[in-house]
Amino acid sequence: MPGTAVGIDRGVTVAAVTSDGTFHDRSFITSGEVARYRRLQQKLARQSKGSANRAKTVTAMRRIMRRVTDRRADFCSYTACRITTRNALVVLEDLRIQAMTATASGTADRPGRNVRQKTGLNRAILDKCWFKLEMALLNAARRTGSRIVLVNPAYTSQTCNRCGHVDAKSRKSQAVFECTACGHRDHADVNAAKDQRDAGLAFSACGDFGIGRSVKQEPVGRVTGRTP
Ligand SMILES: [Zn+2]
Repeated sequence: MPGTAVGIDRGVTVAAVTSDGTFHDRSFITSGEVARYRRLQQKLARQSKGSANRAKTVTAMRRIMRRVTDRRADFCSYTACRITTRNALVVLEDLRIQAMTATASGTADRPGRNVRQKTGLNRAILDKCWFKLEMALLNAARRTGSRIVLVNPAYTSQTCNRCGHVDAKSRKSQAVFECTACGHRDHADVNAAKDQRDAGLAFSACGDFGIGRSVKQEPVGRVTGRTP
């Protein structure tokens, strides 16, 4: 659809929230699979290295992880297809910038510097496949002709989409945004996705589309972005 734009906020609780208010998520691993995987891990610890039984256990563990990986791939391509067929402009936060500003605690996708590498099981539970979704969107966009723009995510969680007021206190909780200036209320992730959409629209209005990785400064405001 020409002229339509959407912002995507990728999160830890919900994989992706779009500025139109849609929550894109699914569970990638079932509680039964988690329990089974834990049992196999314990079994593995008791089995001697190089034994045939140990090899069987490893195969069973891999089978579970393969299912989880497949679900994640399905989710990403389905979501990417859904989003790109409906929108000519798709705006994401630039995770390269987010990585630079990441805290020690890190994110679900990427543990912080002071945190030990997550185990396979923890990753399977927590990973919301931010990068896979980005890749899937780029792929899908090639078919639909949609534009993908990456914007600086700074302050999108604190900026009111109605009046532009920036205040950390407007973020009442994980889910609730209520502007301390104008009282505008929205789901916090939807508000952030709308901020991203508008930043992407401002960036694309600068007229610097299609020049690869260039970063364009808007004369007014602090809108930065790039096309991947
Ligand atoms: Zn406001």
